[in-house]
Amino acid sequence: MATCQNCGRSISAARECSYCDGTFCPKHQLPENHGCNGVENWDVNGQWFDDDLSEG
Ligand SMILES: [Zn+2]
Ligand SMILES: [Zn+2]
Repeated sequence: MATCQNCGRSISAARECSYCDGTFCPKHQLPENHGCNGVENWDVNGQWFDDDLSEG
């Protein structure tokens, strides 16, 4: 069981941030929601968020 590095909650399905390699809950996965330190590498032309609906 992983733990969200932002709120400390235990999460069954951990989500790794693509920018800082941190592990977060779905609510804090977004870089803007966990004070991501990799935001400076953001690609403004690409979509950095994944939609859960794309995977089963
Ligand atoms: Zn969280
Ligand atoms: Zn991050």
